[in-house]
Amino acid sequence: MTGKQAITPAHRYRNNDKAVGVGNAFWDSCEDNGLAGIVAELDNGVLRTAEGHEFVNFTCCSYLDLDSHPQVIEGAISALRRFGVLDHCIPRSRVQIPALLELEASLGELFSADVVCAISAGVASAGLLPLIASGHLGNGTRPLMLFDKNCHVSLAGAKPACADETEIATCDHHSIDFIEDMCKRHERVCYVVDGSDSLGGYAPVLELAGLQEKYGLLVYYDDSHSLSAYGNRGVGYIRSHSPVLDERTITVATLNKAFGTSGAAIMLDGYQKATLRVIERFAGALCYSQPMNTAAVGASLASADIHRTEELTALQGKLRANIQLFDSYLKTDHAGTEYPIRVIPFSDESVIHAGRRVFEAGFYVSPVFFPIVARGTAGLRVMLRAGQTSQQIRDLCAVLAKAGACQATELAEETPS
Ligand SMILES: *Cc1c(COP(=O)(O)O)cnc(C)c1O
Repeated sequence: MTGKQAITPAHRYRNNDKAVGVGNAFWDSCEDNGLAGIVAELDNGVLRTAEGHEFVNFTCCSYLDLDSHPQVIEGAISALRRFGVLDHCIPRSRVQIPALLELEASLGELFSADVVCAISAGVASAGLLPLIASGHLGNGTRPLMLFDKNCHVSLAGAKPACADETEIATCDHHSIDFIEDMCKRHERVCYVVDGSDSLGGYAPVLELAGLQEKYGLLVYYDDSHSLSAYGNRGVGYIRSHSPVLDERTITVATLNKAFGTSGAAIMLDGYQKATLRVIERFAGALCYSQPMNTAAVGASLASADIHRTEELTALQGKLRANIQLFDSYLKTDHAGTEYPIRVIPFSDESVIHAGRRVFEAGFYVSPVFFPIVARGTAGLRVMLRAGQTSQQIRDLCAVLAKAGACQATELAEETPS
């Protein structure tokens, strides 16, 4: 120690005192109630702790259960054998084995886009957003970077890096009027938003396309929650709904949710090869020595193959049927949508207790609370999957009703069979 030093944080775009200060107490409370820090083995769709407690996970984002599909597992193993190395550690811009190129070609054909892969969606966004901010991914003009207030933390986390390249701003959730206003005042704007929200709901693609046509608005979508689960061949919500699919629309999506593997796909249209090279060379961790490893590539090639078959359509249908079944038992704000996530509202005071009762009855649903969600909107987050049985869904709803989910009073009087 060299005496007193006054280091004053700027806190312009992030504040750990606030995030940890507010969030950690709730996490501790979750953990004290057995709802966080759980360790369990997966066996045939059921999780089992060392103490022998069995439960079905209703907060897993592998919406089509492709993560445990035998073909996907086999794909990972056979790719390792075929390429003979897990990861030949060197930036791909210098030397690479053909594995990743094969996957990018496959995903490019599958999703009708130019695809660049990254080890995760978070890594993709951390690398791409500053390149957009500096105008290197775009038309050369440094845009105002406009972040949706509710955008995923992996997007918002890029604010400080973007702010060192250009101006940035945050707007209310899906505030089209504000975005248009910004388009009028700035030569170029890039709006950063989730394609499908982690708490339900979709981006207003049609209104945004209007602004794209009128002002050249660039939109950066993170469609992680709807890839595979949604659209023909699992192309996701954005690429099946956005009328603008050219250099003004950039979409990233994790391969770790419904796609069932690991890694991420950046989906681009109309960019020159030179720009794709800039991404490989300058987009943060995309140009470090670790690309998607061979097992992840092999699993992803296998999952892509499943996406080309009727099996994917059947799994999507099974997922939709499970969502409808859930809605028939329990009404939530998102009832009636094809979105696989439902939030059952509870007060801050009751949400952990309710989650604990549900867990004890054999189901894991995660409590969400500020700062994961806005203040006053705590609840239990339920995720439906294709592989859940009708009985499991029915029993979960009965347990939720007993735990105090207000819109399910009728089920509360019945006992789960
Ligand atoms: C899950 C999720 C991510 C994280 O994906 P990784 O590939 O694990 O980084 C990013 N963005 C959104 C919107 C997500 O839902």
